[in-house]
Amino acid sequence: MTATPLTDPFDRAIRYLRVSVTDRCDFRCIYCMSESMTFLPKAELLTLEELDRLCSAFVRLGVRKLRVTGGEPLVRKGILTFFRAMARHLESGALEELTLTTNGSQLARHAGELAACGVRRVNVSLDTLDPARFQKITRWGRLGQVLEGIAAARAAGLRVKINTVALKGENEGELFDIVEWCAAEGHDLTFIEVMPMGDMGGTDRLDQFWSLSDLRRRLEARWRLTDLPERTGGPARYVRIEETGQKIGFITPLSHNFCESCNRVRLTCTGELYMCLGQEDMADLRAPLRASPDDAALDAAIRAAIARKPKGHDFDYSRRRVQGQVSRHMSHTGG
Ligand code: SAM
Ligand code: SF4
Repeated sequence: MTATPLTDPFDRAIRYLRVSVTDRCDFRCIYCMSESMTFLPKAELLTLEELDRLCSAFVRLGVRKLRVTGGEPLVRKGILTFFRAMARHLESGALEELTLTTNGSQLARHAGELAACGVRRVNVSLDTLDPARFQKITRWGRLGQVLEGIAAARAAGLRVKINTVALKGENEGELFDIVEWCAAEGHDLTFIEVMPMGDMGGTDRLDQFWSLSDLRRRLEARWRLTDLPERTGGPARYVRIEETGQKIGFITPLSHNFCESCNRVRLTCTGELYMCLGQEDMADLRAPLRASPDDAALDAAIRAAIARKPKGHDFDYSRRRVQGQVSRHMSHTGG
């Protein structure tokens, strides 16, 4: 029997689940984590079997797209077991897309098997093509390893989308290099505005903030951009660069222009469901999950949570004050 699909109070059908499978990471990006991050005790995490059960419940309730994220999803031990488990939903046709967002450090090892599980696209976060700057931004990362991972993904037949966080005073001077590199390599590219998430141990996020409207103006000074009508239900807007034929995305999560079509929710590695990236409200799904092997209570908890999905978020960078800042880190909710 098909369950009634999840729909929130604003008549938005929930089709997209982002699931953070770990809060841990082998990098310490300056805008994402402090260098001395404390991670959750392993016992707090959902097991791979629990993640399977929870994600399968969402698929049964109408989720069509699953994005695995973190922390760094590919550092979670045994994570390929989870991908193999989710492949069954692709095979049955219940799930349309299984994908992941990764820093690329472990892709060289896993790309082939991810492709075998039915993954067709990966988002790889890469903010610079300069090895020294890469190390400065990620603190612990090595650019060469990520480039090898990207090459392995392509060799395995995966499409690659590069996610680049626009960072004032860091990658501003590389704007054209990054765009041209993606054009030459055949990668899609999306720029992301820095969001006020988590305590950065003294780093002022407003110092890192480079608005995408300024970034866009700089692109327009060199190329002809055409707005594309494409919408994904998320905060991305797309343009085509006429000279290169490339599609470029802009994610401005602080603008409110996407909330009305929001089709997504986020699950943390401890089973908390966040109905909005920019709000503190969440529902604990681990308790109903562990309370009974039967899924009835779990389904009811998911439906009750979706019934609380807010209309939109409260981020606001205006007047150089961060309003509506949320205390958790992006690596907790899964970016
Ligand atoms: N570790 C993986 C990665 O880096 O792709 C997946 C998790 S990471 C939290 C997901 C995305 O969030 C990355 O593209 C990262 O650049 C972005 N991100 C992290 N902190 C952010 C922030 N404060 N503002 C905007 N984007 C952020
Ligand atoms: Fe790790 Fe991704 Fe956060 Fe960087 S952005 S610290 S790679 S989780």
